[in-house]
Amino acid sequence: MKKILILLSVFFIFSCSGKDIQDYKVFYALDTVCRISLYDQGTDEIYKAIEQELLLTENLFNSHITNSEISKINSEAGKNPVIVSPETFNLVQKSIELWKSTEGAFNPALGPVISLWKIGSENPVVPDSDTIAEKLSLCNPDQIIINNENLSIFLNTPGMALDLGGIAKGFCAEQIKNICISEGITKGIIDLGGNIILIGEKKPGYPWTAGIRTPEENTFDAAISFSCKDKTIVTSGIYERFFIKDGVLYHHIFNPETGFPVENRLLSVSVISENSITADALSTAIFVMGLEKGMEYVKKIPGTEAVFITKENEIFTTAGIRENIIFVNPAYKIKDF
Ligand code: ADP
Ligand code: MG
Repeated sequence: MKKILILLSVFFIFSCSGKDIQDYKVFYALDTVCRISLYDQGTDEIYKAIEQELLLTENLFNSHITNSEISKINSEAGKNPVIVSPETFNLVQKSIELWKSTEGAFNPALGPVISLWKIGSENPVVPDSDTIAEKLSLCNPDQIIINNENLSIFLNTPGMALDLGGIAKGFCAEQIKNICISEGITKGIIDLGGNIILIGEKKPGYPWTAGIRTPEENTFDAAISFSCKDKTIVTSGIYERFFIKDGVLYHHIFNPETGFPVENRLLSVSVISENSITADALSTAIFVMGLEKGMEYVKKIPGTEAVFITKENEIFTTAGIRENIIFVNPAYKIKDF
């Protein structure tokens, strides 16, 4: 039942008419609904390869799967280095780089804090502040020791844990894109629960129309749509995975300084760029930074655009999106930053 609810709340809609979609497949993986549309270029063989890739990513990075490589690294924390696949090694290395470049907003070592809250499970809890503080002291990525000679990863202190939930879908989307490109696919939409890659354009000379969904449950209305081709669009928002206790909403994007869900005026941040791995981590990080700091930050990254939606139904975008807007939902207001 829970899975069906998640299915209904996928972040992104694409304003193609139903008739355009001739060929797509839906998979449930990476804790979300993955919809791959390759139109008339999709073959059973390619979809099978994509399904395998989804399984592979799950088995490398899902910390809820006991035998995943990330789980092995976590269970050996403070004990032994773990030799991992080049995929895991590279993604952990990239995560540490992103931790540095986002000044700590993206933190791949937040596992101890994230698992405390159990958000997304049947029994989420609000932990007490002392426990949060204690776990937070185990979340320092400086204590991840990586060795590129034998591709091993060692968490230096017992109790440390990696959580790549903020970047794994971006990695998987890039892998799927590579499969598609090597198979000669020239047009497609890879949508891993709101982590999107657009391949090519809708038809020659016509870019895709990408819509960012409103937070209302069970609707696929766009708050804003814009034209886009050969790009990735990744959204981090607080209205998909959350729980409410004593009237307070607790969601799944954490402030690495406090160990509590981020509190600011944002509902979602979407990052539009060339690479889905960085876009995934950046959407989480920019959400943590908030509107002002996040906008300043994204403006400095070449080739990267962003859309911010606030709880007051305001939409702020970078210049590159602003000039490509197709539609703004009348319930929302475009604001200048
Ligand atoms: P979604 O998983 O909904 O696509 P995100 O890409 O923003 O959204 O990832 C949120 C996930 O990232 C959380 O479920 C958690 O696993 C992890 N996470 C939460 N806060 C942070 C953070 N500050 N830095 C890195 N990862 C985080
Ligand atoms: Mg992310």
